[in-house]
Amino acid sequence: MSGSAVDLHLHSTASDGRLDPSALVAHVAARGVRLMSLTDHDTIAGLAEASAAADAAGITCVTGIELSAVWRGRGIHILGYDFDPEAPAMGAMLAGQHDRRLSRARQIAARLDRARAPGQAALELALAATPLPTRTHFARALAELGVAPDAPTAFEQWLARGRPGYVTGEWPTVAATVECIVASGGAAVIAHPHRYTLSNGVRRELGTEFREAGGAGVEVATGGANATQFDMCLSLAVRCGLEGSAGSDFHDPAVPWNPPGRLAKLPTSLRPVWRRFRAPAGCIEQA
Ligand code: AMP
Ligand code: MN
Ligand code: MN
Ligand code: MN
Repeated sequence: MSGSAVDLHLHSTASDGRLDPSALVAHVAARGVRLMSLTDHDTIAGLAEASAAADAAGITCVTGIELSAVWRGRGIHILGYDFDPEAPAMGAMLAGQHDRRLSRARQIAARLDRARAPGQAALELALAATPLPTRTHFARALAELGVAPDAPTAFEQWLARGRPGYVTGEWPTVAATVECIVASGGAAVIAHPHRYTLSNGVRRELGTEFREAGGAGVEVATGGANATQFDMCLSLAVRCGLEGSAGSDFHDPAVPWNPPGRLAKLPTSLRPVWRRFRAPAGCIEQA
């Protein structure tokens, strides 16, 4: 089997992924993934379809989500796994995130308009595609409106941190987000730690606060990361007493750098976070 049998960070058309949940499951299963989680941004709308498709494909799919949070004024993504999707704490979080995504999308549109880009038109296109617009939806809309040659360029020019349409969002704190996942019976993991522009010392403060709030792990094997980034994520987990996780952050089969399941192995000294999952034991060994 090539690649990794575990991929716990995947997106579908329920947020900013390109494949619908069934097509995503077929795609990851064909690449040898045996334990997966669909982790769309602030929504669990795709989980029922993914779970049914995984059953049909003979692979295991645990409940998942990528929650937007804020820490010291910065956006941080927290993955939640194996939680009860019906838990009251998760229900309240989902309702709040829905409202916060909408109000942030309106702020993004207003900022783009002020910068003489078609923000309102982009918002309308984004809302035609999803009830929870992400910056990816704005980037696609701006490209469709002819503001940039393609969505990645639109993202870099208009939506990246420091650009005219950038809005962090009024997300819950990292601690509140972790507490919600734990109260819902799940395990919390810091997503793609190498992508936050923090010094190693400050990143460790994040990891320590995260663990003290009840956080379980760190994404150590991440899609597209180089060896230096892997070592940094591993060191964060070890120094903060956190477990390890593995996820590609796959969105789009046309993007070559982070296909599902192409992930470095975790060192055997690091406990994998998926050992906590209530999934069948045979499914939780990494290839
Ligand atoms: P949001 O949660 O609305 O801030 O959107 C974040 C999403 O934008 C991420 O999950 C990625 O899918 C996408 N994204 C982040 N950075 C970039 C980038 N530099 N270029 C293109 N897409 C990006
Ligand atoms: Mn995304
Ligand atoms: Mn993310
Ligand atoms: Mn993601």
